[in-house]
Amino acid sequence: TFKEEFVTCGGVALSDINNETMESKRVPGLYFAGEVMDIDGITGGFNFQVAWTTGWIAGKLT
Ligand SMILES: Cc1cc2nc3c(=O)[nH]c(=O)nc-3n(C[C@H](O)[C@H](O)[C@H](O)COP(=O)(O)OP(=O)(O)OC[C@H]3O[C@@H](n4cnc5c(N)ncnc54)[C@H](O)[C@@H]3O)c2cc1C
Repeated sequence: TFKEEFVTCGGVALSDINNETMESKRVPGLYFAGEVMDIDGITGGFNFQVAWTTGWIAGKLT
């Protein structure tokens, strides 16, 4: 309900994302990171870690 929640559930299915590059399997050249993906923890730093780690993977040069 977007009041006091820490994280939004749902998003782009992980099965549609290459987890070695974070590139979309459906749309080449499109990359995802963080909350836009269908992955979340209640709290405890897991959501920050997901955002930072997937952002780093998406941004690194291959
Ligand atoms: C109150 C609160 C407490 C939290 N506490 C914790 C915690 O203790 N531990 C934890 O792990 N997680 C916590 N979280 C969750 C964590 O903050 C998020 O999961 C994380 O910040 C997501 O990062 P993100 O980069 O994916 O998205 P965001 O941080 O939401 O970044 C998205 C960015 O995109 C920008 N944007 C949106 N639309 C557009 C547009 N059209 N064009 C350009 N820019 C746009 C937004 O302004 C924003 O800066 C908390 C969240 C909230 C709300």
